[in-house]
Amino acid sequence: MKHEAIALKPIRSLQDALDRCQALGMRLSRQRRLILELLWEVQDHVCARDIYDQLSRAGKEIGYTSVYQNLEALSSHGIIECIERSDGRLYGNISDPHSHINCLDSQQILDVFVELPPDLIERIEAETGVRITDYRIDFFGYRNPEPEASAPTDSVEAIPVDS
Ligand SMILES: [Zn+2]
Repeated sequence: MKHEAIALKPIRSLQDALDRCQALGMRLSRQRRLILELLWEVQDHVCARDIYDQLSRAGKEIGYTSVYQNLEALSSHGIIECIERSDGRLYGNISDPHSHINCLDSQQILDVFVELPPDLIERIEAETGVRITDYRIDFFGYRNPEPEASAPTDSVEAIPVDS
């Protein structure tokens, strides 16, 4: 019951994430702080190995096991996002329900907040008999248009190039 009141305040910043840790009684070790800082800095979905590599390159002394354990603790407490992929887990800074744009060319995952029209949700509820309380949408697409779909090459060449 106590957790409900804590869960009401959404995490919208690094400070909110740190506050949530404290509200949940999680120890804010130096390593845990470093990981949260990095996730809010990159604002992307990254694997434990990437996080470990980036911290190491920045000269932060932290073991891979510690990175992994902290990520698991943070995601299990709903402070960060965890996405299960066939090739492993990815972690993101946004823990609120949100949708994803999966870029098929760059393999990037972009966070996006999508609100469906209420009448569409009502229709889905009527069709399925399920009361919808939450939803996430996975969009797939290309950041750059596919060659077939792009404009004729001569119109691309017409774009002035700064010399
Ligand atoms: Zn996300």
